[in-house]
Amino acid sequence: MKKIIILSLMFFIFVSCQNVIKETKTQKKADTTNEHLLMSTVWFQNSAEMRAIYYQSFNLAKMIVDKSISEVGKSQKKAVVLDIDETVLDNSPFQVKCVKTGQNYSTKTWKEWTSLSKAKALPGAVEFTNYAKNNGVDVFYISNRLEEELDVTMKNMKKLKFSCVDSAHFLLKTTESGKKQRRANIEGKYKIILLIGDNLTDYSEIYENRNEKLAIDIVDKNSGDFGTKFIILPNPMYGDWEKAIYGNTYKLSKEIKNKKLKDCLLGY
Ligand SMILES: [Mg+2]
Repeated sequence: MKKIIILSLMFFIFVSCQNVIKETKTQKKADTTNEHLLMSTVWFQNSAEMRAIYYQSFNLAKMIVDKSISEVGKSQKKAVVLDIDETVLDNSPFQVKCVKTGQNYSTKTWKEWTSLSKAKALPGAVEFTNYAKNNGVDVFYISNRLEEELDVTMKNMKKLKFSCVDSAHFLLKTTESGKKQRRANIEGKYKIILLIGDNLTDYSEIYENRNEKLAIDIVDKNSGDFGTKFIILPNPMYGDWEKAIYGNTYKLSKEIKNKKLKDCLLGY
């Protein structure tokens, strides 16, 4: 009898250990994959619709420039303000690396990519900046790339033949992510006729630290701004929209983030 109890106990311990090993392996897999990025990155790189949206947006931007020139007059200095990443430069190869290797965004991994100065231009972006400049409108780039990335960024954009690629037209991140002050610096000297970006904070500080409604209510309230004062571009790969779902922080495990992504879905 004693022998049977000991054998049963040993069997129980063995099964428990196997379950723990299995759970650990599953946990490890969840922590080292970025499968949630797969579909959005495939869409960004392979859908003709993505390219059409960018062309559509920059075509609209040209129309707004034309309208503003006739309304504002030639005496007042005018500017358009553009974000850089996923607005004029395509960093989807960085996302591909995240999908394939499981690596995450960090200052180090990001700089490994930007230091190559090999991002491609997004459809219609180069032509739009040239159009604005040729019509007497200055182009400013407000980006949260770090100031130490200025040279590699300008090198990349010069190769692609963007307009206004000089340090006076780049306002990169120094101490704060918010772009309000940097917009104000331009507004002191220019009339900003249009802003373009893939994140709502490229337009206004009212979209920083989104509320529990994910700022959807604020967008609805300001629906008249879009396509008139601000042109929003599509970025299904990352952005403040995702951060808001996590509760305005990325400092969570992948397992918890994946759960939050699933929890926010509205089914029927
Ligand atoms: Mg961006």
